[in-house]
Amino acid sequence: MKLEDIKSPFDGAIVGQAPVSTVPDVDRAITQSELGADLWRHTPAHIRCAILLKAAELADERSEEIAHIISGENGKSLLEARGEASRSGEIIRLAAFEGSQLYGATLPLDANKGTGLEKIGFTLRQPVGVVVAISPFNYPALLVLHKIAPALAVGNSVILKPAQSTPLTAIALAKCFSDAGLPEGVLQVITGSGATLGDALVKDSRVRKISFTGSTKTGTHISGVAGIKKLSLELGSSCPVIVMNDADIEYATDAIALGGYINAGQVCISVQRVIVDESIMGNFLDALKPKVEAIKVGNPKDLENKVGTLISENEAIRVEKSISQAVSDGATLLTGGSRDGAVIQPAIVCGVDPASAFAQDELFGPAIAVSSASGIKEAIKLANSTIYGLGAGVFTKNVDLAIQSAREIDAGIIHINWTPLWRADLMPYGGLKSSGVGKEGVRSTVAEMTEEKTIILHGRSW
Ligand code: NAP
Repeated sequence: MKLEDIKSPFDGAIVGQAPVSTVPDVDRAITQSELGADLWRHTPAHIRCAILLKAAELADERSEEIAHIISGENGKSLLEARGEASRSGEIIRLAAFEGSQLYGATLPLDANKGTGLEKIGFTLRQPVGVVVAISPFNYPALLVLHKIAPALAVGNSVILKPAQSTPLTAIALAKCFSDAGLPEGVLQVITGSGATLGDALVKDSRVRKISFTGSTKTGTHISGVAGIKKLSLELGSSCPVIVMNDADIEYATDAIALGGYINAGQVCISVQRVIVDESIMGNFLDALKPKVEAIKVGNPKDLENKVGTLISENEAIRVEKSISQAVSDGATLLTGGSRDGAVIQPAIVCGVDPASAFAQDELFGPAIAVSSASGIKEAIKLANSTIYGLGAGVFTKNVDLAIQSAREIDAGIIHINWTPLWRADLMPYGGLKSSGVGKEGVRSTVAEMTEEKTIILHGRSW
């Protein structure tokens, strides 16, 4: 099979190689996966659980090695890559546990008029079968594990298609499962171009579930071609944060200086729009600017640097252009925005028109768009003004405003007194509107990776 070089976005150094799969390879993988699904479905849950727990142990042991792979191919700082890799074992353990908890319900059939005590009904969950998991580049370990670990824990087989730019992390993680004793064919990694392989993976009727994380554009395409099968789509966003006039400004700016710039802003729950009550705008910007300017960016291997590169120089050029366009449209660049290769200096753009592309479209880069609002009603209206609805944050000490925000903001995850950039791996996680369909978070994923059947035992009256 043809191999391609995987290069560091920082200096172009070759960090590894990955196979370039073809459409016939997809067909072979699905055939193999059907066999894997049959075998794994008939493997008792306690054996599946034991293999996953062993894989978690291996992921823990290999955490430092995996962190170097993540940082090398993705360009995120080694500091951030270590944080990501260190969650691997725990996600697998959570999945192993949830996979052993497939309880059903007893149906009180005799409460249905005309039905007696001679019948018993209950629900039974079973794996869906062949799962195709398609993941993006930005969290090459975390987002892969949030799909494959719950899918495997409940007895599915998985074909994983990682982003073409970050296949090495996926391969290293898959090795933890195979070294732990996962039978052949139960987990396969297929690498190469999504544009080439995507339709073959998604359309095939032998595939019973697509679990996709990526852009809204690709998600829209997938939902158009998938046909009748289960679909989870974790898509794009332009997450808002509201800062009310009673907020603790130091605390809010500490959080925003993290939430807008971690992973060079390439996070679906990154802070993109900051909506500040107009009465505190001056104090807010004065507090935020030095904190953003203090973020060290550059060579991912340098432990002084909190933030590394974007995924490629082309992506950095795109973000640089978006910032320039916002300024041409009348906004002010308060700090940052300069580019060196794939590295962009963290930027604050203020006076942004909330209806402009800089606020409305997903930026996926290290810049925030600051706009003002007068009072909570206008702030919530602006928060809800994009096609997206993944995460949101509200800073206020007022309980009434917090409750109003929780009820009225149309986002899948709402943080009161923090930014959307926070996640516990067990919590339900997913967006509204064009940010997606379905939920991840280990327990939610387990539900989405299984089918529920209703069983009725028909006895005779005695
Ligand atoms: P992307 O371009 O949509 O790619 C995501 C994955 O889809 C990659 O593996 C890609 O393969 C594959 N793909 C491309 N074309 C395809 C097709 N026609 N059919 C099937 N698969 C195809 O997204 P990205 O740039 O990697 O990731 C950034 C996006 O992901 C952002 O929009 C971000 O918000 C979103 N995201 C969402 C969440 C969430 O939880 N909601 C989390 C993280 C990221 P190639 O790499 O080979 O093109």
